[in-house]
Amino acid sequence: MSNERLLVKRQGDFHYPIYFEEDFSCLAQAFQDENIAGRKVCIVTDSTVGPLYENAVREALIPVSMDVTTFTFPAGEARKNLDTVGELYRILIEQEMDRKGILVALGGGVVGDLTGFAAATYLRGIDFVQIPTTLLAQVDSSVGGKTGVDFQQYKNMVGAFHQPRLVYMNMAALKSLSDREFACGMGEILKTGLICDGEFFRFVCANQEVIKGKDINMLKTMIRRCCAIKAGVVERDPKEQGERALLNLGHTVGHAVEKLMNFKLLHGQCVGVGLIAAAYISMKRGLLTEEEYQEIRNGCSAYSLPLAVEGLEASDILAATKKDKKMEQGHIKFILMDGIGKSFIDKTLTDQELLSGIREICA
Ligand code: NAD
Repeated sequence: MSNERLLVKRQGDFHYPIYFEEDFSCLAQAFQDENIAGRKVCIVTDSTVGPLYENAVREALIPVSMDVTTFTFPAGEARKNLDTVGELYRILIEQEMDRKGILVALGGGVVGDLTGFAAATYLRGIDFVQIPTTLLAQVDSSVGGKTGVDFQQYKNMVGAFHQPRLVYMNMAALKSLSDREFACGMGEILKTGLICDGEFFRFVCANQEVIKGKDINMLKTMIRRCCAIKAGVVERDPKEQGERALLNLGHTVGHAVEKLMNFKLLHGQCVGVGLIAAAYISMKRGLLTEEEYQEIRNGCSAYSLPLAVEGLEASDILAATKKDKKMEQGHIKFILMDGIGKSFIDKTLTDQELLSGIREICA
């Protein structure tokens, strides 16, 4: 087993490991090391990931579980809801899954969020393991313990904080991911660099050919660094009372665009335009130079993220930002950049400033 695990604080002195591997061959050992071998397992996956990797994961688990079932639901955000959670509860009850049972989330952020939520609530909480298979899930949604589902048209409205027992990443699984989904993960990676590690941002921009070629060693280096940054932020502020809000860089405008486009653009693509809006506002405040602003645009464009959106009115985007969950007593908690790699929470943003950033991303 490669010795590259990252330990993330769960609670008190308890930590959970993140594995960065090239296949599923170390999964059983990971269960053993975490003392969760010999239990009933339910693999939760979606209709795209299941046919690709469920067999391999099931086989890898044979040495550590005699009883492995699978729950598969149709891929896509539309099924990240309480109905699907209900179907999963029913399967768990039928399988007589008790408090010692373990859910294994095999898939992207949708599977991870939904499985984590089911694990947080079934029998008042059971253990779960994350096997994230999208780049976005590997660098973002599988780290930090936020779980949940959408409720009616409201995204992530119902949820819980619930940390996994371990996160196991198979870098090779990214090979089957579409370019568009890969780009979405890159949006979050660029964001992470912009928040607190300018050197990492520039490293990612400089190595675009190798990264886009999905070179396994490069992916390991990049994903590990990104997880370490996110884990650090989450450890210092697990329930988003302060610093964790920095992770929302690009998300105020991004979420508004995502909603108005009726989810035709993917989350990471919307975060990309949100980053550009935030960078533009930061430049107008004199916090970023024009060259730095261009550097950020070039970084997004290098990874095929959209620089602007078509068919939306700036005023509608502005109105939609007001419905964001990130409001605090009437003020938007907006994340600005003070140079590349240094972000901060700002509560003084005027509508005029916000509108200027939004206009910059309206084609
Ligand atoms: P997703 O889970 O819908 O996956 C995207 C698509 O890729 C799906 O069709 C999936 O079946 C497919 N797929 C997954 N892995 C694949 C692979 N290896 N090969 C081929 N196809 C594969 O979307 P996502 O972008 O991974 O995650 C988005 C979700 O994550 C959203 O619901 C968002 O709210 C959530 N999220 C949560 C957090 C958090 O902190 N919990 C953070 C960011 C995003």
